[in-house]
Amino acid sequence: MEISIPTLLRIKPNAIYKIGKYLRKERVIRIALFFGADLKEKFAEPLMISFDSSEIDVVHEETVTTNEAKAIFKSAFALPSTVQAIVAIGGGKVIDYCKYIAFVMQLPVISVPTSISNDGFASPGASLIIDGKRRSQKARIPYGVVIDTEIIRKSPESYTYSGIGDLISKYTANYDWKLAYRMTQEPVNDFAELISSNAVAIMVNYPKKDIKDLEFLRLICGCLVMSGVSMEVSGSSRPASGSEHLISHAYDMIASKPSLHGIQVGIATYAVSWLQNNRFHGTIKSVLEETGFVEYVMKNPLNKDDFIEAVKHANNVKDNYYTILSDLGNVEKLIEFIKEDEYFNKFLS
Ligand SMILES: [Zn+2]
Repeated sequence: MEISIPTLLRIKPNAIYKIGKYLRKERVIRIALFFGADLKEKFAEPLMISFDSSEIDVVHEETVTTNEAKAIFKSAFALPSTVQAIVAIGGGKVIDYCKYIAFVMQLPVISVPTSISNDGFASPGASLIIDGKRRSQKARIPYGVVIDTEIIRKSPESYTYSGIGDLISKYTANYDWKLAYRMTQEPVNDFAELISSNAVAIMVNYPKKDIKDLEFLRLICGCLVMSGVSMEVSGSSRPASGSEHLISHAYDMIASKPSLHGIQVGIATYAVSWLQNNRFHGTIKSVLEETGFVEYVMKNPLNKDDFIEAVKHANNVKDNYYTILSDLGNVEKLIEFIKEDEYFNKFLS
């Protein structure tokens, strides 16, 4: 099994001004540059200053507004043969788009997230639209991740809370993975499990959980990278995704107004950790409170009926994926909790 790990990792304030320098150090001088929707205006200037001063040639440039597989193939085959690396600037969509081009064209991709709403900027998978349906596809894990923490600090707080929600779910995901091993003998990759459980511990143990604190943001970014890498190491989404992710995916399909991935995942993590009798249930609660996640969600709750429907459908989201919800009676038990638990109802309307 071949494992790739991001080699170029820079997470710090004003990193965007140094991308040209980082690329040149890697001996990359000709790039294809992809922007997420509406991001060119915002970031073109610092990027061009950085590329010009390091004499990096942008030989292809595009703005991405879709993650349709057809569009991705079109972009992939339109790339000049001189391109040495792909640089993706923006959120989940453009990064998934570029990770898939990189996979098809066997090129390295440098992901430059401008918000941190999930671990996709450092993961080997990509969420694509194929024949009108959303599918998770194997793609190429980024060769490089460059995050300007000043940009993250200025990004909408909803995205950072979403990143925190995605990260806290490692507790319930790893529980489900070990449960699957006991029930179905699906093997656990111990190293991948260690990476992902250490990643969440780093966030949890940081004393000042202020999402405007640059050092806290730097740590969260690094933890999300580790979560992405843990999936590459295990060759599956197991260390990063358990029953809480199944509920979130079902909610995406059911709800008329889905929220951000990590917001839904974070809320589901709280509920699932109760069902698992997870020893980190109290930790999850206090971290969601300390970071301001709870307060944010109280102002932007999920729909209670849709959430209950999502729990009912969670087991149908993925085939052969044993979780706590696979145990007989547990779906009903969790629905009872969602209906009755006073604290959990802060997250719902
Ligand atoms: Zn996730």
